[in-house]
Amino acid sequence: MDTDTTSNDFSLPIDLPERHRLLVVDDDLAVRMVSRLALTKKGYGVTEASDGYTALSWMDSHKFDAILLDARMPGMDGFETCRKMRDKLNGEPVPIIMVTGQDDDASIDAAFECGATDFVVKPLNWRLISQRLESLIGAGTVKRHLKNRSHQISSMLKTSSETMLLLDGDGIIQGCHQIARMPIGFRSHMIVGNHFLKSLREDSAELILAAWMRAHKTGECESFIVEHLEGNECHTVQGRFVRGAEGEWLCLLQDQSDSFNCEQQTYDLTFKDPATGFGNEKQLFFELNQRLQENRKSHLQTAILRFSASDIRRFEPTIGREGMITIAQVIVERLEIGLASYLSTLAPEAKRPEQLIARLSESDFVVVLSAIDDLGFIEDLSNLLLRRLSTIVEIGDHICSIDWAVGIADTIEASSTADGLLSATAYAIYSDFGSSNGHRIHRYNAELRAKARQDIELERLLRRDIADGVLEMAYQPKFNLSNLSLIGMEALIRWNNAELGYVSPARFIPVAEKSGLIISLSHLVIEKVFGQLAAWRDDGFEMVPISINISGIHLNTRTIVEELGAGIQQRRIPPELVELEVTESIMVDGVGKAFKNLNDLRAMGIKVAIDDFGTGYSSLSYLKDLPADCLKIDRSFVQSITSDSTAEAIARAIITVGHDVNLHVIAEGVETEEQLNKLAELGCDSVQGFFTGRPVPSGEFVTFFQDGRLVG
Ligand code: C2E
Ligand code: CA
Ligand code: CA
Repeated sequence: MDTDTTSNDFSLPIDLPERHRLLVVDDDLAVRMVSRLALTKKGYGVTEASDGYTALSWMDSHKFDAILLDARMPGMDGFETCRKMRDKLNGEPVPIIMVTGQDDDASIDAAFECGATDFVVKPLNWRLISQRLESLIGAGTVKRHLKNRSHQISSMLKTSSETMLLLDGDGIIQGCHQIARMPIGFRSHMIVGNHFLKSLREDSAELILAAWMRAHKTGECESFIVEHLEGNECHTVQGRFVRGAEGEWLCLLQDQSDSFNCEQQTYDLTFKDPATGFGNEKQLFFELNQRLQENRKSHLQTAILRFSASDIRRFEPTIGREGMITIAQVIVERLEIGLASYLSTLAPEAKRPEQLIARLSESDFVVVLSAIDDLGFIEDLSNLLLRRLSTIVEIGDHICSIDWAVGIADTIEASSTADGLLSATAYAIYSDFGSSNGHRIHRYNAELRAKARQDIELERLLRRDIADGVLEMAYQPKFNLSNLSLIGMEALIRWNNAELGYVSPARFIPVAEKSGLIISLSHLVIEKVFGQLAAWRDDGFEMVPISINISGIHLNTRTIVEELGAGIQQRRIPPELVELEVTESIMVDGVGKAFKNLNDLRAMGIKVAIDDFGTGYSSLSYLKDLPADCLKIDRSFVQSITSDSTAEAIARAIITVGHDVNLHVIAEGVETEEQLNKLAELGCDSVQGFFTGRPVPSGEFVTFFQDGRLVG
């Protein structure tokens, strides 16, 4: 059957198709046979069912155009069957004619209630029935057609972004759609029953009326554009009149400023950092490339200042996402004001660079200065900006002190492409990796390039020596301060290279970390230390715990827990004889697997010490949450503990708070007796340093076992 749901006119199919499928449901065989004879003659294809169940199962496999249903049947009666049929038809307007025995009101009401379309009374008049069927099937087709059509119209309306007014021939609004898309003032009187021109400003009303008249005259689509002022915003509304059915008109309206806003939003989403409203990485690349191109033509230079706060995420657990957004806003604001104030100090006749501030990532902020003829001021400016950025940021009760590294690259020393310049700043910052804390500015230049070359060579040699097992361990004793007995030792790697001689771990560990070699180095260290531990135990020495320095990179791996677990099991090492020294930053980062791994390792019985304590984040408040057993006060405090009251105060605070949360506190880098005495006075638990024992090869360490306590 062709219901023609796709064409665009509203005409309805009038002719019935030749053969309608009819389902006759009656328990009386005679009635069914007569129905078949009578209705087949009238052109129907008849299917019979002797009860409700059979009828319902026919409906599963066949479609019918109408159903003739006996009301009184044994088992499931006609009313119940009708109800079930309606469920099955799920809104399809298939006519169901109920055949009742009695012409009583109750039966008729019941028939309609259960969803019958019509009813006929026995004995059956076949001429009447076929007429009735014909008209009902026709009506069903109409309904179906309208249903499809209204689906079509409503989905068309749903997807249309235009506002639509349905107007009668006089311009009275009959219906509205998407009216909320119009400016409030413009739509305020667009209510069903009003004339559409009501309340429009005179000049717009005039324009729209003219279009309306033209449309009426020609019968064609007529458009108009009017401006509508609302507050400070000017909206441009575009509209057209389109002739509808039966003398009705559609007025289609679109707020153009809306699509402009949409474009703006799309642009912002693509090119702006949502937190600060400044450009993001995409915009930075786009702008930078353009400026570089222009600068090349005019022989001018461009410099990039990249401010990186790689550990900024450590604040998130305490200040939350909103706090992080505020920090970012404060940072860009400081950069903006700093930049403006610096440029204001330039001589009036000096050429001002073009500037751009962008946020490259959560932690990296970039200032681009282009169209420069003299790069001389860049370092001055970087210093000024860094000073501004280094002031603490207060978020509620939290004081955030950000540790910045700055990378500078320019078109003379580094590169003339956006990517090249940004990579150079990354390299400059990267070169900072492993250097002591503090505020640092690195400019990409020949020296840095040279260091990069050295690093590459160092990496090559280190890789080879790790593979050959050339590296050795040294062990430095740790003593208890109360009775000066040996309580442990730290394993420290030693590298004597055939070409370079002795290379300090402070030099090659950062290279190993940058290159990823740190993992195989760490495996080597663990292997050597565990082997040594087992050997000493087998030699009958009374063992004390050995501390191993573990890089954050290794600690973040998925397998470290298994590795260490398997290692101690294989050699039957009591886990409490193994301690891992990790730096604070690893724990506070809150990213990666380090935290969980440390918890798992501690659950296994392995001890954890926080190394270089006090140099990192110096926040004592979170100490209780760290998965650690021991704090190592950094050498820098110990060095000046007898001469600098601040260092002493810090050491005292670390010891007090450490004890409050049940941590063992050890001081490292103890070089003099005075330092040792001061630490004892402050209540420190133990010490490690040149004064009590230098790091020595395993063979020499045996004397510490033999003495068992500090001698001399
Ligand atoms: P660290 O973990 O803070 O190790 C202590 C450093 O201080 C060692 O330097 C040690 O020799 C030195 N030291 C000990 N007592 C004194 C003292 O009284 N005065 C002075 N001035 N220094 C003292 P080393 O061996 O050069 O190691 C430097 C850093 O390299 C270590 O600092 C550690 O971060 C890293 N490192 C050393 N061995 C390993 C290792 O096996 N694996 C990893 N991942 N890092 C290691
Ligand atoms: Ca250490
Ligand atoms: Ca240390």
